[in-house]
Parts: sequence; structure tokens; C-alpha cells
Amino acid sequence: MKAMVDPDTCIGCGLCCGLCDAVFRMNDEGKAEAYQAADEIHQSDVQEAINTCPVSAIRWEE
Ligand code: SF4
Repeated sequence: MKAMVDPDTCIGCGLCCGLCDAVFRMNDEGKAEAYQAADEIHQSDVQEAINTCPVSAIRWEE
């Protein structure tokens, strides 16, 4: 499954990268991006990032 970060909403707190650096990283604009699809092992970490992002900028891609 692939996650998406809305760059207009992300405030660059870094929380998602801390939770799952196999999927999220910070880009040059200081925003998070989902650079890799989440394999089964990482899906619960991504879900936790979705649940705890302070501005709800992350969602699963349809
Ligand atoms: S947790 Fe949310 S606000 Fe923080 S870096 Fe990730 S996407 Fe951006």
C-alpha cells in the first residue's frame, strides 16, 4: 500500500519520519514525502503516522 502526504498541509514536524523512516522522509522544502510504498511490515507504522500527524496530512492512496 502507498501513503500520500499533502505538502500544502504538512507542517514539517518530522513525526512521521520518526515513526517510519522506511516510508517517509523530509524533502528539500522541509515537508514529508512518502518515498516508498509500505510493505506489510510497515503498514501499522504508517497507520500510526496517519493517526498521529498533527495536521492530518497523511492518507492512504486510493
Ligand atoms: S507528521 Fe504530518 S505534519 Fe509532521 S512531517 Fe509528517 S506529514 Fe508533515
